[in-house]
Amino acid sequence: MSDKFKLNFLNTLKKINRAGYILFLATILFVWGAGLKLSTALAIYYLAIYVIMFAVDELILKKKRNKFPFLLFQIRLFAYTLLVCIGTIIGKIPIVLTISLLCFIIVLLIEDLYLSDVFNTFFNYIKRIIIGVVVCICFIFIQRGGEVEGAWILLYFIVTIVVVSSIFLAYELFYRAILSLDDRYTKLYFKNADMIEENKKLIKFQERVEKVNSEINYQKINLTKAIDDLAKINEESRSLIEVMKYFSASFDVEKNAEVMVNNVVDIKKTGTVALYMEKDVYMNDEPYLHINSSNPVTEELLKKDILNIYNAIHRRESFTPLVLCDNYDFKYPYLTGGNICNAVAFPAYENDRIYGVMVVTSSKYDFFENGFSFYESSIMDFTSALISDRLYLKTEDMAKKDGLTKIYNRIYFNQFYPELKSEIEQEENGILTVAMLDIDHFKNVNDTYGHLAGDEAIKSVARVDDKYAKLHNGTAVRFGGEEFLLILRGKGLMETYEILKQMHEEIRTNIVEFEDLKISINTSMGLASYPETCSNIHEIVDRADQAMYYSKEHGRGRITIDGREGEDVQ
Ligand code: GH3
Ligand code: MG
Ligand code: MG
Repeated sequence: MSDKFKLNFLNTLKKINRAGYILFLATILFVWGAGLKLSTALAIYYLAIYVIMFAVDELILKKKRNKFPFLLFQIRLFAYTLLVCIGTIIGKIPIVLTISLLCFIIVLLIEDLYLSDVFNTFFNYIKRIIIGVVVCICFIFIQRGGEVEGAWILLYFIVTIVVVSSIFLAYELFYRAILSLDDRYTKLYFKNADMIEENKKLIKFQERVEKVNSEINYQKINLTKAIDDLAKINEESRSLIEVMKYFSASFDVEKNAEVMVNNVVDIKKTGTVALYMEKDVYMNDEPYLHINSSNPVTEELLKKDILNIYNAIHRRESFTPLVLCDNYDFKYPYLTGGNICNAVAFPAYENDRIYGVMVVTSSKYDFFENGFSFYESSIMDFTSALISDRLYLKTEDMAKKDGLTKIYNRIYFNQFYPELKSEIEQEENGILTVAMLDIDHFKNVNDTYGHLAGDEAIKSVARVDDKYAKLHNGTAVRFGGEEFLLILRGKGLMETYEILKQMHEEIRTNIVEFEDLKISINTSMGLASYPETCSNIHEIVDRADQAMYYSKEHGRGRITIDGREGEDVQ
């Protein structure tokens, strides 16, 4: 029986106990009041011990114990039996009281059996013997009093035998029952203990398994993320390689810029990407801007602010990316007013010089959480391609252009002119106009001012030729020493003639300055046009040359139109 059960039982016992004591007190008072051979002293003795025992029991059975008062119960059994029996020794007690006392002893024994530890067999035997002996002594004293007679003696015997045998029998039965119960309980207890232990082990094992499982899950998530990241990086690297392949096959810087920007948009799924390069980076006369955007508002914002962003990047003199906006937190007053959540400006630089900027924007939160390396790599790849492209363009340009005047040379003319002719021929209304010009009395310039001054004069004429060529989408060529061509397409004879007149006048009025010298020069010009003056496109240069010679032969410093020699076309 568990302590918990016993403690609960104490509460019930308390109530029964009180009823028992009331019954005993009533018995004494009844025996006393009825004058049934009970002396006043004995009555007071029994009254006193019952009051004391009642008080002690109240204390023992007090609530809120956390342990069953085993020892107190043992003392209680012996002390109460003794106290009850002492009364039988000192005085003659009536049968009603005797029976009550015996009943009281039985109650005490039952309580003891029920509540005490019965495992200690030896102690239990002693207990039974003591109680048996005490009850017998009690009986003997009553007998000795000789007060009991007749049929009452028989009753005494019967009660004594019943009590003593009840004690032994009850003890034996209780002992065996509890032993067998206890055996089963012990077995169950140990079995249960084993199971609890096993359960604990299982729980521990389960906890370990769960821990390992959660670790595996965590690692699995990490691994999946790492694989995803790796796949992304792989995709990015492959795209960079593809772009590099494109770069290596192309010398067109602007096309390369477009390919690079589009690749960034495709791979990173950005909102808008803009690339800005200042002028003269790749022999470009104007700054370059390419924007790839699906959002017209962002595109407009970039167009408006790109120069300011570039200037900010330039002023900063740092090659690290400049965060313009971090999750709607605008760090600079640029690109505001749209739906931009993140924006970063990546400087484009070669050696120590920043030449441009790439701005990447997105409307997604934490868009740049994986860093900037892809964007920086893209820009760097583009820059290295740009450097080699520029070298190529410069070399090509050098080959095409004349070293002194920087306009196209005769070699390049020989390359592009046949192509141009066939293009014009294929056009339905193709017009090609060629003007030949030659500096008049140039030998004199050389002779009078020296060759360096002569060079300056040649450069000056070339500059004017080139200016008019660019102005009218044509081409200026240094055809020989001091001979130049102006080639225009799509312009009629008279239109070209008007242009030539302006050019001629500009050269004539231009003063060539060399050191302290101021040199005036004049040119003779010849003009031929396909199909207007010359139906065979292949003869057009010769015809212009002939017209120019006509000018030479007829006073120099003038323009002659092919086929109209001698005509006054002014
Ligand atoms: P004309 O009016 O008949 O053309 O007379 P001209 O003196 O110009 O005669 P010509 O065309 O025969 O002379 C061309 C001269 O230009 C000859 C050459 O010494 C000179 N020349 C050619 N190339 C250069 C050059 O690159 N620099 C200099 N300084 N002189 C050059
Ligand atoms: Mg000449
Ligand atoms: Mg000449």
